Amino acid sequence: MAFIGIDVGGTKINAGLFSKSGELISFHNRQTNLHDVMDQLVSITSEIILEAQSDICAIGVATAGKVDVQKGVITDATPNLPNWTGTHVKGIMEDRFSIPAVVDNDANMAAYAEGAFGAAKGFTNYVCVTLGTGVGAGVVVNGQLVTGSRGGCGEVGHMILYPGGYPCNCGLHGCFEQYVSGTALMASISRNIKLSKNKLTPKDLFSVTWAEDEAVNQIKERFYHDLVFGLQNIQAVIDPELIVIGGGVVDSSENWWNDFLKVLDRANNIHFQIKKAELKNHAGMLGAAALAGKHIESRNSSL
Ligand SMILES: [Zn+2]
Repeated sequence: MAFIGIDVGGTKINAGLFSKSGELISFHNRQTNLHDVMDQLVSITSEIILEAQSDICAIGVATAGKVDVQKGVITDATPNLPNWTGTHVKGIMEDRFSIPAVVDNDANMAAYAEGAFGAAKGFTNYVCVTLGTGVGAGVVVNGQLVTGSRGGCGEVGHMILYPGGYPCNCGLHGCFEQYVSGTALMASISRNIKLSKNKLTPKDLFSVTWAEDEAVNQIKERFYHDLVFGLQNIQAVIDPELIVIGGGVVDSSENWWNDFLKVLDRANNIHFQIKKAELKNHAGMLGAAALAGKHIESRNSSL
């Protein structure tokens, strides 16, 4: 018994065949052809099925953008995936392969994977926040992924942190992701650090080399406080037992995590535990396979 998990991003499509316990049996990937995403999805799935040694019970697809989970349709793709909006991914996959398919947003799938195999294992109320190019989250309440009416639940990157603040690509001003994403840290470097030093990357900000630099320390302090503000807002709405933080910004967290925890400790009314994500790059793919497996299980048990 095996499950296919596919993660569709703006630059790459990663696809894996997984055992029921989450072991990766085979892996395929390719650069995303922006004009032909569905064809690529079908061809990468065909490759996996062709070489699979065991029965494939379900296919899970994690994708950037918003998804109508019931219908398996992309309702609002990101600008990184033009032409993807409106695609009936579930219907096309099931017609082509006669294998049940589930489709969900990549942050949701990654959150599901952290619950099944990673930092949130054993928790039933948790939020996984991803700090990458942008900021997203997957929300799990009472063991269920919450999607919202249009697949937009967990769009925490667009909570307003500072009304009238920095403009965001969503059309609003002062969104959370304009303060704590990797992109925001880059922007903060170019705004606040003298020209001779502004080739710094967000990772450099947290290195010991710049530990005594006042401008660098101001950026870091603001980042910690803004992150805490955002997490407090998430707590106010969701009341999770745990918040897991992942994404590219966390890859350099060995140099900032403890300082951030000190700021979080000083904040009032924090009732959640906090952990770093454990599953890194394969979380979307693994979560897609695991969620597909769960759907099959619950469908069989209700027959
Ligand atoms: Zn926004």
